[in-house]
Amino acid sequence: MLRVVISGPSGSGKGTIVQELIKYKNYKLSISATTRAKRKTEEDGVHYFFKTIDEFKQMIEQDELLEYTEFCGNFYGTPKSFVDKTIQDGFDILLEIEVNGALNIKEKYHDAILIFIIPPTFTKLKDRLIQRNTETTEVINYRLTRAKEELKLFKEYDYIIVNDDLDQAIKQINTIVESEKLRSFRQKEVIEKMLNN
Ligand code: 5GP
Repeated sequence: MLRVVISGPSGSGKGTIVQELIKYKNYKLSISATTRAKRKTEEDGVHYFFKTIDEFKQMIEQDELLEYTEFCGNFYGTPKSFVDKTIQDGFDILLEIEVNGALNIKEKYHDAILIFIIPPTFTKLKDRLIQRNTETTEVINYRLTRAKEELKLFKEYDYIIVNDDLDQAIKQINTIVESEKLRSFRQKEVIEKMLNN
């Protein structure tokens, strides 16, 4: 079962991609904890577990997070137990996290698949962020600066998807996941079983 990390700048459309992917039976989505304020469109326990800074710190102290980071002034982290259980239950886990988190996951799990979603142009990214209307101009500008920094780290990722067409992007991710499952190092048990018969 795979740990699939999906990153990309705010406005790259990665959220929509992830929501489409979880319609497939093999995937489960990790729900992160965050200290960011809840947006009107969001629900606690569905989009995020919204925490106070003290609650978040407690999660860190109790070693409940697989990784965590600070992003644009807020904390975000991946609860460990759900990820472990999902893998044990035989599902692929999707982690929609930013680059620091992605790199921390890769360090812990070398076989994690890192996918970076980019918009067709930077202008499109800006337009999407403005149209989304969930952040102030100040936050949008901060996120756009951050987006350029994230883009520079593209080589750390295994795959880059240009999100020009949603269906195409979904198809490409499913192809990646299916192909990755066929990699020889993931077929060790199948071969060993055959040799031992
Ligand atoms: P947003 O505030 O737009 O929901 O998320 C901001 C950024 O934080 C996005 O790039 C998102 O992927 C990332 N993020 C969400 N949850 C986590 C997490 O648990 N860990 C890390 N490292 N990043 C996260």
